[in-house]
Amino acid sequence: MNNINYPTHEKIIEVVDKLQNEAIEKLKQLVSFDSLLGNEKDAQMYIDEVFKSLDLKVDRFEIDLEQIKNLPGFSPVNWSYEGKENVIGIHEPQPSEHASKPKDQRKSLIFNGHIDVVPTGRDSLWSQNPFSPYVKDGRLYGRGSGDMKAGIIAFIIAYKAIRELGFAPAAKVLLQTVVEEECTGNGTLACLARGYKADAAIIPEPFPEIITAQVGLVWCKVNVRGRPAHVLEMTSGINAIDGAMFIVGELRKLEEKWNQTKHDGFSSKFPHPLNFNLGMINGGEWTSSVPCECNFDLRAGFYPGVDLKYVREQLTATIEGAAKEKGLPVTIEWNGFQAEGCLHDKEGEMMKQLGETYKSALKRDAVYSPVLCTTDSRFFELYYGVPATCFGPESKYIHGIDESVSLESLRDVTRVLACFISDWCGLQPLH
Ligand SMILES: [Zn+2]
Repeated sequence: MNNINYPTHEKIIEVVDKLQNEAIEKLKQLVSFDSLLGNEKDAQMYIDEVFKSLDLKVDRFEIDLEQIKNLPGFSPVNWSYEGKENVIGIHEPQPSEHASKPKDQRKSLIFNGHIDVVPTGRDSLWSQNPFSPYVKDGRLYGRGSGDMKAGIIAFIIAYKAIRELGFAPAAKVLLQTVVEEECTGNGTLACLARGYKADAAIIPEPFPEIITAQVGLVWCKVNVRGRPAHVLEMTSGINAIDGAMFIVGELRKLEEKWNQTKHDGFSSKFPHPLNFNLGMINGGEWTSSVPCECNFDLRAGFYPGVDLKYVREQLTATIEGAAKEKGLPVTIEWNGFQAEGCLHDKEGEMMKQLGETYKSALKRDAVYSPVLCTTDSRFFELYYGVPATCFGPESKYIHGIDESVSLESLRDVTRVLACFISDWCGLQPLH
């Protein structure tokens, strides 16, 4: 075809490794932004700058609720999207014939990562400030380090490594950083609704295994009302906190029932794949008064293929049935995650290629595994026909205290992603 020497995996890896210090510096910078829900802007502006420095065309846009609110996969929210922006770095290949692959084999690719992080818990429990990242014993610490700012840095450095070699992907590549993965997924949904699709999508969430399945999950807010009274006349009151505890007990029975059904995608690895989490609770006003109100927030997991409507009906029947038994009025609000479960075909072209590239780059076999959470990969796979998976750096205590990411794993993932660009998209000389 031509006499250009296209870089081998060895060459690509050599450059990735040279960029490791830059990767660590960029990761520190990114973790230092406290991009909690509603506060993602500064981190997104930083990403915008980084994308521009790589000559990517940048599309930074606010989520348009009107555009997505009737789409499958949408999760309702009770906050505004004003000023909440996604950032997309767009690489368009040159029309030139010169490439490492024939035209019909060059495939387009999306790298997607979420910029939002979850709350830190009590800061005083952390060894250092959660947003003052530091490196210790080969790990970088800070909220969001693993989940998933290291993954974002991995795809940025992977793309940069190809350029440093004097090449560029021979197919379209989209680097996306999105808001709101941790509560709705509406950020990624908005990218797809805006027309950003590709032949595959990889999300470097903190799973060093290639993800084959993820559970579905719903969030709901339950309001239980009691009848207030002085404790000396306790029988005339109905205790809303006791009532909430009773309802939670009944929900635990439903959780066990759901777990009795086994699912091929999960059961070989996890004995209890479906988890209900009582994530928030508040109620009562005075120690010696029977509380008139208790609110709790529930996260409930369910299997792929199970209808969301059925899930909500079952939860509603359990909550309302228990409340009725105690004579308590109750309301349920479905806000945040309304996410279906999802399977990622291990035998699909992208999944197979990712495994092969992994083996070639890291000289060991990739492990394929399910996860017990949801990720944005469901949108690509379920509603837009884009084969997707998650694969990213090994992390500890994500959503916990002293979250950290392994820097060696960050380098390994970056090696794989850079080689994958070459294997999937093909390369062409940088003009
Ligand atoms: Zn995440």
